Amino acid sequence: MSEIKVRFAPSPTGHMHIGNTRTALFNWLLAKKLGGTFLLRIDDTDKERSKKEYEVEIRDALQWLGLAWTSEARQSARIDRYRQVTEELMAKGLVYPCYETQEELELMRKTLLAKGRPPIYDRRALTLTKEQIAAYEKEGRRPHYRFKLAEGEIVWEDMVRGCCRYAAENLSDPVVIRADGSYLYHLPSVIDDIDFAITHIIRGEDHVTNTASQIRMFEAVGGQVPSFAHLPLLTGREGKLSKRLGSVGVAELRAEGIEAMAICSYLAKLGTSEAVEPFADLNSLAESLDLGKLGRSQPKFSEDDLRRFNTHLVRNLSYEALGGRVEADEKFWMAVRGNLNVVDDIKLWLSICRQPVRPTMEDEELTTLAAQLLPAEPWDEETFAAWVNEIKARTGRKGKALFHPLRKAITGMEDGPELKILLPLIGRERVSRRLNGEYA
Ligand code: GLU
Repeated sequence: MSEIKVRFAPSPTGHMHIGNTRTALFNWLLAKKLGGTFLLRIDDTDKERSKKEYEVEIRDALQWLGLAWTSEARQSARIDRYRQVTEELMAKGLVYPCYETQEELELMRKTLLAKGRPPIYDRRALTLTKEQIAAYEKEGRRPHYRFKLAEGEIVWEDMVRGCCRYAAENLSDPVVIRADGSYLYHLPSVIDDIDFAITHIIRGEDHVTNTASQIRMFEAVGGQVPSFAHLPLLTGREGKLSKRLGSVGVAELRAEGIEAMAICSYLAKLGTSEAVEPFADLNSLAESLDLGKLGRSQPKFSEDDLRRFNTHLVRNLSYEALGGRVEADEKFWMAVRGNLNVVDDIKLWLSICRQPVRPTMEDEELTTLAAQLLPAEPWDEETFAAWVNEIKARTGRKGKALFHPLRKAITGMEDGPELKILLPLIGRERVSRRLNGEYA
């Protein structure tokens, strides 16, 4: 069996959003699971719309997410190769020039639709005489080129959709080169997939019809047809998530403090029959990959769900998984993680434990007494129980009436980690001064 190779082929014409991140993720996971490699291919044939900054953003996002690539390619550097293949196809009559203008094509479409027929290009360009072509050229018309789809049924076994069948007769010959000489994505993509020996292609279901045409191109160019998987598109508040709509960007989610593994775990399981649960790392996520578990309906992506899921993940994150990202030891992390929404929230608790805090005095009588009763250090969690019992015994307070004023004085906060865990982290001196109302 040939070596497994997948690719992620973004067009750097927009932000790296949750939709293309999901495509990248599934390809990466499949390669990982099957022991293959992952190619990053920059589809930058659209000179007008391709921007360096988007490419930088794509690379940053992939790196941050942990979706490392083993090799890369750039379509704009391969135009000569595309020309060479296209010329071979032209020589075989499989790529042919057409002279219709946009308006003429639109009119043809409308006429067919009005007759209740499918709006399929009728290949009239193939019947043009030399004189007609010369006349068009004289008018200043430049040809665009179409790929001639071989007749018959196009069939593939999709890893998500099962058996897919298209009658080539129901498809228009796709335009492969525009009148300005630039390439549309379809044919270069096939040439790349052949040249780079891509074995599996996972992409959005908006590409299903492209796949039918592209299978014919694989056959014509003479390459092995890869296996395909088409993911149902995510829907969001605004309907379909598309890069043109500029939906939820990975950079923004990252800036907000959403964990890479929250995004990956969430996206990998959304729309599957499995529970969306936090995975510790990409390897275990890859292990669990089963494309057969993806449903056919379009899953709903919700930023709020992702945020909640992220909080759930953060509150269960092991110290080790943080990889030294926080300036706290394991004990501190375990003490506060249950109160964080994003990892960065730890800064608040670090400053409450290590920097002066303005106490909120709710019940001075109680807190002054509590300060007097503070035991000597060293403190552990049992010291806390003894101290609290003593305050209870002296004041008759319990529950909220006891703990709330203590908490507000010691931390300045409404709620947070358990006081018995926090107290040893803050230390006797600060606790004592804060209980007395001092900024300490
Ligand atoms: N550049 C294309 C896109 O972003 C690639 C599609 C494909 O994976 O073949 O839609």
